[in-house]
Amino acid sequence: MRTAKKAVTQVLAHLHADEVVALTQRLVRIPSVFRPSAPDGNESAVARVVAEWLRQEGFTVEVQEVSPGRPNVIGWLEGAASGPTLCFEGHTDVVTEGDPREWRHAPWGAVLEDGRLYGRGAADMKGGLAAAMVAAAAVRRGRVRFAGRVMLAALVDEEGGMTGARHFVRTPLGRSVGAAIICEPEQNELCLEQKGVFWARVAIHGRMAHGAMPYAGVNPIAVVGSYLHALPGLERRIRRGVPRSRFLGVPHVTPTICQAPVAGVAQNNVIPSSAELRVDVRLVPGLGPDTAVAALEELARATEARWPGSKIEVETIEPPRPATRVPRSEPVVRALAWGVRVVTERRPRFGGVPGSTDGTIFLTEAGIPIVTFGPGDREIPHQVDEHVEVSELVEAARCYAAAAVRFLSARA
Ligand SMILES: [Zn+2]
Repeated sequence: MRTAKKAVTQVLAHLHADEVVALTQRLVRIPSVFRPSAPDGNESAVARVVAEWLRQEGFTVEVQEVSPGRPNVIGWLEGAASGPTLCFEGHTDVVTEGDPREWRHAPWGAVLEDGRLYGRGAADMKGGLAAAMVAAAAVRRGRVRFAGRVMLAALVDEEGGMTGARHFVRTPLGRSVGAAIICEPEQNELCLEQKGVFWARVAIHGRMAHGAMPYAGVNPIAVVGSYLHALPGLERRIRRGVPRSRFLGVPHVTPTICQAPVAGVAQNNVIPSSAELRVDVRLVPGLGPDTAVAALEELARATEARWPGSKIEVETIEPPRPATRVPRSEPVVRALAWGVRVVTERRPRFGGVPGSTDGTIFLTEAGIPIVTFGPGDREIPHQVDEHVEVSELVEAARCYAAAAVRFLSARA
């Protein structure tokens, strides 16, 4: 342990706050919103900068083209002996800035003011990505002996279908990962749980008819009313079946889209033939997607029985992302908790991730133990005037470096 602490001191001497800030600014200034209609509306420009930076720092770099213009960048450093791979993960895409006039600071300006760095992606999550890059580089600069590999994975499309993470975990490099730190903005809390999610499409079929003769048709809008009316009860039943999570609270079943008619022109005197609902379901550990889908289907059968002639179909729109949980005893959790104590001289704070991340894919599709930890207020992502506290940003980088030293030197 003493040697690990000494190694941390050595590494931290090569980790400079200014550099973390400057690299974050550089990344924020490259807009990387995915806009399928714009030729440069993707992650390629920021990925190029990440790859070039890593190469200059002595990393071996592999660029994986996930889809045209959307490259994953993976960089790694080999230790002196064989051992597990510790991966720091960040995504290079950001969500839209919305209306720039609503911002007090230019969304791509990366302006520093009162100890904060402002811009789209400052928190979610170019700050975390830059912190991890500098931390990993400092391990090399400090010339500490370690076993295994330090890896940096800068992946595309987290804000969309997570195709970057899905692609990565299937490649030989992805399969080599022993544990991962997901650098999402969680105000430097160690998050061992993440909520899961799926979206259900509930298609309601009735029979088209004249508004003057409703008895001649089956009105899908009335069926929608029944279904919606019963959803809060379904949510309560689901909640009773799972233990309450200290960090994530309870599962949610929320209708988000309601549409009728589904096709054709809406007219005052026409009962449409069909309607559609979308339901957003948030999962917690202990509630699997299958259980929740089954509950939505059961409600569909009960509603059909009340409305003769109606037909209700339930399907998930994308593959569900289950909730995740890793135990505190997991080596990567212990290494990071140790790193936080050494760097901050405080006990680590624990928390939970309200949404799913690329880490969800790492854990559920590849069995990689993850812990989510990164700089930035949990609620700030996707808002205007997104920002990260510089002190938190630098603290994250230092904690990452210490965690890497601990995780990889425990085995050297
Ligand atoms: Zn994110």
